[in-house]
Amino acid sequence: MSDSLNKTASMDEIVSLCKRRGFIFQGSEIYGGLAGTWDYGPFGVALKENIKRLWWKRFVDGREDMYPVDAAILMNSKVWEASGHASGFSDPLVECEKCKSRFRSDQLEDTTKCPNCGGVLGKERQFNMMFKTSIGAVEDSAATVYLRPETAQGMFVNFKNIIDSIHPKLPFGMAQIGKAFRNEITPRDFTFRVREFEQMEIEYFTHPNEWEGQFAALQEETKKFFFDDLGLSKDAVHEYEVPANDLAHYSKRTIDFEFDFPFGRKELSGLAYRTDFDLKNHGDASTVPLQYLDDATGEKFIPHCIEPSFGLDRAALAVLSNAYTKDALGGEERIYLKLKPSIAPVLCAVSPLLKNKPELVSKAREVFSMLKTEFGRVMFDDNGNIGKRYRRQDEIGTPFCIVIDFETLEGETKDTVTIRHRDSGEQERVSIESLVATIKKLSV
Ligand code: ATP
Repeated sequence: MSDSLNKTASMDEIVSLCKRRGFIFQGSEIYGGLAGTWDYGPFGVALKENIKRLWWKRFVDGREDMYPVDAAILMNSKVWEASGHASGFSDPLVECEKCKSRFRSDQLEDTTKCPNCGGVLGKERQFNMMFKTSIGAVEDSAATVYLRPETAQGMFVNFKNIIDSIHPKLPFGMAQIGKAFRNEITPRDFTFRVREFEQMEIEYFTHPNEWEGQFAALQEETKKFFFDDLGLSKDAVHEYEVPANDLAHYSKRTIDFEFDFPFGRKELSGLAYRTDFDLKNHGDASTVPLQYLDDATGEKFIPHCIEPSFGLDRAALAVLSNAYTKDALGGEERIYLKLKPSIAPVLCAVSPLLKNKPELVSKAREVFSMLKTEFGRVMFDDNGNIGKRYRRQDEIGTPFCIVIDFETLEGETKDTVTIRHRDSGEQERVSIESLVATIKKLSV
């Protein structure tokens, strides 16, 4: 049996597990790294893919009113002028006159003294967070372009394309998953605040009179995504109604979903009522009207927009910190990731009890192929002894370890295997024939 010791993991413990077990590595590590960048290894990729799949299922495939796009990361610079990013997407920056370290002044307790060396901090100035690059072969004559700081604008500029090609009826949404880039002044807290990250965003368009009901519905879906899909603890997620004087320039109402990360309660995702701000500004700036014609009433208007905006890297970090568990199993301390089967990078690992017994290995390979075809997220694991394999699988959060032993090969137990359950450490013997059905049943 397993006795839970504690559930509060430190950030160092999570970072260490992520590196040790192939989830997340420092970006460009062999060259000393690059601040604000992280590389995902095999299990990190698998975790992110599972989160994206669940998000897509809930917000796109599970509905009939969502239209996904995959817009280019590089966009005409006029997009960022009309959206307000060129002039307003900035953070307040201060620089230490002595050690030259830079800080976001709104994150400092004392804005006069450098937290690094105690030196005097210079005057505050606004620092635009968009990464600039240039397009074209000759740099002199090249046009400046920006790496998008959010995926949202790629949807607003395609609003008319969707209306003209698909003819959706209001209310409807556009959805996009993709990379975004922000030149954060002080990237920090592992993958929480980085310079390159992935967003999962929806722009949901509605009649101006109906925004409140749609806002409430998307708020509910967001909670279901966090609790039912990602398995986050209910007491670790908080809804913060952003006060009117703190709202972004485009928003009339925003709820931040916050999560209790090991480094404090911080924003996990946002839900904003953006009114007609974006469609109106792009319509005006491009001189292409971005409107909707209601065939039934003949009314022509600019729809209003509600935006649920999720950061994939923050979602993955919340899942990892939520799942990190220490307990004592069989008198020994262990670490495991208590992940829902639907989100675990590996759903089941298949092992021969001994790797030097060909008859065990070939049977294990057979079972492995069967499960791999069915579930995809299956790993063949014959590395080290069985105890070590369990440890490793526990640390990557594998819910089921299947072992082919001598009892699988003959006697009354012929063609049965053991399933070992990650959380309790308990084992049961089931027939190979019923294995797929058993795992399916255990995974709901
Ligand atoms: P913060 O206040 O933490 O900087 P924000 O309010 O600027 O975040 P939004 O512009 O609302 O963030 O972006 C939507 C989502 O994108 C955020 O809720 C977060 O999940 C993610 N996100 C934003 N900036 C970053 C970043 N630098 N690193 C990782 N994820 C980010």
